[in-house]
Amino acid sequence: MSTQQYIQTKKELMMHLEAERLKSFENWPFDESCRCTPAKLAKAGFYSCATENEPDAVQCFMCFKELDGWEPEDDPWQEHKNHSPSCPFLQLTQPLESMTCEQVLKLEMTRNKNKSKKILDKTLNEFMDTVSGVRDEMKNFTEIVPSPMHSSDSEKCEMESTPVFGDEAFCMICPFCRHEIITAISYNAGTLCWFLCGLMIFLGLWLGCCLVPFYVNAVKDCVHSCPNCWQILGRFNRL
Ligand SMILES: [Zn+2]
Ligand SMILES: [Zn+2]
Repeated sequence: MSTQQYIQTKKELMMHLEAERLKSFENWPFDESCRCTPAKLAKAGFYSCATENEPDAVQCFMCFKELDGWEPEDDPWQEHKNHSPSCPFLQLTQPLESMTCEQVLKLEMTRNKNKSKKILDKTLNEFMDTVSGVRDEMKNFTEIVPSPMHSSDSEKCEMESTPVFGDEAFCMICPFCRHEIITAISYNAGTLCWFLCGLMIFLGLWLGCCLVPFYVNAVKDCVHSCPNCWQILGRFNRL
């Protein structure tokens, strides 16, 4: 057990004692003319867990119920009953000090069960907050990413019912990702390129000129792929 855990456990055990709970209300924001006095709060099982933002935050040492936003006329015992009706502390018929060892141990088991539940709830809430944060971020992300359809293509493109792959990009439904896309074209040196190259050599244009066809897209074959999933959809061979 770390020092911090030891201090926390010691504090929790001390809060079993009404006198110790009373000591925790050093800077209680209500005066003695109110119903929610430190004495009544301590008697009802509460100790102060005030923070800068919540100076009237209290917690029950048994059920770990946290309450704040007190009104001067609030009765601590009644509030405890309203917000945590099954708290074992409220069911006690005798003071802790006069209980048998067995009774105290039973009570302590219930208290630890409540503590575990409180920790579990807190962890679960934090986890759900993280999940919802990630979900929001993902939503923003999908809003930023442009749709597979090029945004500059304002005019509605006509969908080909049976795609014919030519030398121009066109609209189709990608059979792989099912998105409506405009095909992305890349150029490959095909038969026509090699034919032109051979023809140039035959004509005596072999000093580098024969390589020109490999740099001219207009004589190369076109490969159409999906700009969304990058699957190859088809090709257009010029020869
Ligand atoms: Zn309680
Ligand atoms: Zn696709």
